Amino acid sequence: QVIKCKAAVAWAAGEPLKIEEVEVAPPQAMEVRIKIHYTALCHTDLYFWEAKGQTPLFPRILGHEAAGVVESVGEGVTDLKEGDTVLPVFTGECGECRHCKSEESNVCDLLRINTDRGVMISDGKSRFSINGKPIYHFVGTSTFSEYTVTHVGSLAKINPEAPLDKVCILSCGVSTGMGATLNVAKPKKGSSVAIFGLGGVGLAAAEGARMAGASRIIGIDLNSDRFEKAKLFGVTEFINPLDYKKPIQEVIAEKTDGGVDYSIECTGNVKAMIQAFESCHDGWGVAVLVGVPHSDAVFATSPVNFLNERTLKGTFFGNYKPRTDLPGLVELYMDKKLQLERFITHEVSFADINKAFDYMIKGESLRCVTNVIGN
Ligand code: NAD
Ligand code: ZN
Repeated sequence: QVIKCKAAVAWAAGEPLKIEEVEVAPPQAMEVRIKIHYTALCHTDLYFWEAKGQTPLFPRILGHEAAGVVESVGEGVTDLKEGDTVLPVFTGECGECRHCKSEESNVCDLLRINTDRGVMISDGKSRFSINGKPIYHFVGTSTFSEYTVTHVGSLAKINPEAPLDKVCILSCGVSTGMGATLNVAKPKKGSSVAIFGLGGVGLAAAEGARMAGASRIIGIDLNSDRFEKAKLFGVTEFINPLDYKKPIQEVIAEKTDGGVDYSIECTGNVKAMIQAFESCHDGWGVAVLVGVPHSDAVFATSPVNFLNERTLKGTFFGNYKPRTDLPGLVELYMDKKLQLERFITHEVSFADINKAFDYMIKGESLRCVTNVIGN
């Protein structure tokens, strides 16, 4: 049975989303239709809406940071049933492939992030339409809609008691940042960590550094308004590159006797990625890239920086396996060991979803949660 519901449709690059009545087809084999309760905005949505450094694909329903409840399941789905509480994730976990079976990896062969696809994997078609005209999906989630269809492997089943207006931000930004530090950089107690970009993802990375017992957490951002808020997340020192004439790598080297032990890049700017790497101490420094770069960006650094024993890494979703690991992160929040409220700076109604974009563009928000269920 087709469902008619409201969705925020991006018709063209950079144009405000329009709330439209869309038709959502029933889930096919191994698919699930879910009712979205809350969805937040992540910078990755903004990049694909602006489509400046990314492939334009319109009309499209964006959105990937969300929480909802299963409405119906397609053929072959046994892990989930109507009424289950779920977090959709842009990078799924089929559970069967070499990546899912590897302890190292979360980039599933079948369900890893694909930003250019726009259709379902099984039949290459969209489940969304308006008057018969298909509307593209986004990263297998498309959560800016009252109902959406995803592959079953892109849904983590979580504690039904969890408040969805809070845990929705674990569906991307907070898990990504925390995991980048805890699972990928793995800082030792007492170490120094530099965080490039103090948005939602960067401050979650700072939170990870604090949990790991880092003694110095240096925040770097072009927006000095971020610094006050960042103190709440354990950031101990701040650097605004605009305040210096010399390269920020040199500034950091001077402040840290040769460089930081770890650096985490959460900006999406390739210059900041290079700076993050070159800010690491030789001999042991590890840099982790998290930001999504322009599609034509090239990372250039002297190979000598590697010969001098620095390590460069990167991650999607903080190396968490979504179905395996997300339920545990939700429990961390339920046990009050992880505070999500501090990340949520704004809340808007579904009709006002474009305001979430404005707040992020102006650098005012960390996470803006949209209430889809209350409209
Ligand atoms: P955000 O807009 O909230 O924060 C980005 C911050 O970076 C801003 O405060 C901005 O001022 C700062 N910044 C931008 N350019 C900079 C530069 N050159 N030097 C220093 N600071 C700079 O965005 P967000 O939602 O926190 O996302 C951060 C990045 O992480 C984005 O690129 C996003 O696409 C990416 N992301 C990646 C993953 C992943 O799995 N790898 C997941 C989620 C988000
Ligand atoms: Zn995201």
